[in-house]
Amino acid sequence: MKEEVKLPVTNENGYYEIRLESIGGLGANLCGKMIGELGAVFMGLNAASFSSYGSEKRGSPVKAYIRWSAQGQEIGINSPVEEPHILGLFHEALAGKLPVTAGVTEKTKVIVNTDASPMEMRKRLKLCGGEIICIDALKIAMESKTRINMVMLGAIVKASGFIPFEAAEELVRETIGKKYPNLIQENLEGLKRGYEEGKSMFFQEDGTFERVPYQEAKNKWGYANAPIGGANPRIGSTVSNDLSASREGYIPLFLQEKCINCGLCDTTCPDMVFQFKPGEYKGRPAMVNTGLDYHHCKGCLRCVDVCPTNALVKGVEREHPDLKWFVRNKDLIVDRLEYEDAGPNSWVTSESHFTEKRIDGGMV
Ligand code: SF4
Ligand code: SF4
Repeated sequence: MKEEVKLPVTNENGYYEIRLESIGGLGANLCGKMIGELGAVFMGLNAASFSSYGSEKRGSPVKAYIRWSAQGQEIGINSPVEEPHILGLFHEALAGKLPVTAGVTEKTKVIVNTDASPMEMRKRLKLCGGEIICIDALKIAMESKTRINMVMLGAIVKASGFIPFEAAEELVRETIGKKYPNLIQENLEGLKRGYEEGKSMFFQEDGTFERVPYQEAKNKWGYANAPIGGANPRIGSTVSNDLSASREGYIPLFLQEKCINCGLCDTTCPDMVFQFKPGEYKGRPAMVNTGLDYHHCKGCLRCVDVCPTNALVKGVEREHPDLKWFVRNKDLIVDRLEYEDAGPNSWVTSESHFTEKRIDGGMV
């Protein structure tokens, strides 16, 4: 067994606790498991880690919980981490959409994957006093050809102030090296850059914002109000989900002049991103592909694979900030302002979205 690394701080139950908040597809579940293993195998601690997620689908919220205790103390609970010592936010777009900062105290170190400054993120997350660390994990992951979770792991190791970096390196070698030996260098580089490149800021409790107590998420539909037979009365699927947070730096770009309106992209896309409308193609009435609704696009790029004419190509999302302001059916955008702050490419043009809004009574 490894020599025990002393925990510098614990809660009243004797635990050091970490919570990761993410969106399916960014690797938070694996990162949580790795942090658990880091404590148990490489730091001589007792450790527990588990995740909570829904349909294991890209785009659904994911939480990972890690609990460590000293060697002599068993971990006797397996409930969610309510007041974490470290909170890792795997995507800045989570800010404001879900109560991801619930339970954060002045002792919590908040790590955010963002290219924004700590000052800006503090405002967006409405954080009271404490420490915030911003790391552009998406950019680093793309440059290092690794995944966001490796970079976030490096940032968590640094922010903790007591996890030995060598232990994390050993963990990555063991975990990734066994399965994907050819990817080991990329992952180690991602880990190192995550460790080195975070921007940290401490700020005083000043009463600008109020703390949000931890509470369990409540489902909109339960046994008492679910539709009879379990049928979903909404037209389309996942239309209320903003899937932009699931993208890992890439988006499909649409070159309309190359499109032959074959519809393959539409039948392949799992999230109804393509907006076909009655129109004309080669002088005949046809359903015409008018483009994408990036609000629903999770960046899986399956559409790029199937398009027979290269009318869809892989693009780097950050190279197209203008897409954010691209509005195809301008007259239909009645709630555009609501989405302007929701992150890059977060506009809504799909009929299915508007149908849902109408059902909710949110628009006429
Ligand atoms: S698969 Fe390509 S060519 Fe076919 S409709 Fe989609 S974008 Fe157009
Ligand atoms: S990348 Fe293509 S297939 Fe995947 S969600 Fe976006 S539009 Fe649909």
